Amino acid sequence: MPINVRNSGEKINLEELLVPNLSLSQFSTIHTGGKADLAAYPTDFEELRALLLHAQTNGLDVTILGGFSNSLISDEGIAGLTIITAHLTRKHIQGEMFCVRSGLSLDRAIDFALEAGLSGLEMLGGIPGSVGGAIYGNAGANGVQIGDLLYYVDYMTLDGKMHRMQIHSDDFSYRHSPFSETHDKIIYEAGFRLDPTVHTSEARKNKDDVKQKRKDKGHYENPSLGSIFANPPGTHAGQLIEECNLAGINVGGAMLSNRHCNFIINSNGKASSSDVHSLLKQIQAEVVQQKGILLRPEIQFIGRW
Ligand SMILES: Cc1cc2nc3c(=O)[nH]c(=O)nc-3n(C[C@H](O)[C@H](O)[C@H](O)COP(=O)(O)OP(=O)(O)OC[C@H]3O[C@@H](n4cnc5c(N)ncnc54)[C@H](O)[C@@H]3O)c2cc1C
Repeated sequence: MPINVRNSGEKINLEELLVPNLSLSQFSTIHTGGKADLAAYPTDFEELRALLLHAQTNGLDVTILGGFSNSLISDEGIAGLTIITAHLTRKHIQGEMFCVRSGLSLDRAIDFALEAGLSGLEMLGGIPGSVGGAIYGNAGANGVQIGDLLYYVDYMTLDGKMHRMQIHSDDFSYRHSPFSETHDKIIYEAGFRLDPTVHTSEARKNKDDVKQKRKDKGHYENPSLGSIFANPPGTHAGQLIEECNLAGINVGGAMLSNRHCNFIINSNGKASSSDVHSLLKQIQAEVVQQKGILLRPEIQFIGRW
């Protein structure tokens, strides 16, 4: 029997939306992890709400994922309902405001803003993942953090209600947003206040340059989650790890990159998330022993850990 939920006069067939036992390693940028017991890709507000109400009615935990580029998914998978935002991609411009749904890739969002003559986001070029994931963790690079440019965030709570948060830049700090560590708010849309640029070609060049620098540093050469640890105040996690002579150590297929000491890579394509987790713990312990500093993981641990 199809499960029908009536929303704004529309019938949504949840059975068509729900995908059981979806393998997630195919989406993960480090290519590890198990299956989602149940997954769905909502395309709009009504579908998202219907899914959340279904989860609430059936006592299912809800996990939200965008580009999977900052999340280590347990090999044992994810219980409950996993909502993947990849189909929430609409965007529009209102004057100097760029409004974008959370599932659009950040890199594409930057391109779209530039095409519309709006600059500000380009120094974030080449960061993998979605707009929603970037807001959750206040992604940043080259002296710019996404929270600096936000005007509002629309999010849905687990009861299906939509809310608007007006953003003040001091709500965000290094790799931290008002959404970090909360699991009951699904970022739906964000509004960025950008600059109408008279030098679009210069802004475009800046974006291309920062992306090229990432390529030159080998960021995309191997499957990874980017930086594993946040930088402690006043120093760089990668430098501390390098000084501990840990480059190249491995657990199974998970290896600490020789090129970027804060990246764990899936060196042979056969690493498990448990390998990555064990290696992360090993690095943490070594740095505590040699430097007396406990590095804080920047990545999220998702699922049955
Ligand atoms: C090669 C490489 C380079 C990187 N370089 C950088 C860098 O320079 N700077 C930087 O900051 N990061 C960097 N990262 C890390 C990562 O790309 C960013 O953190 C990115 O913003 C994560 O977005 P995502 O959509 O992949 O998030 P996911 O991994 O899908 O999710 C991350 C967290 O956000 C939550 N989340 C995702 N979408 C939503 C939503 N719509 N609503 C609520 N919660 C949500 C998830 O539940 C999870 O807790 C890099 C990663 C890689 C692989």
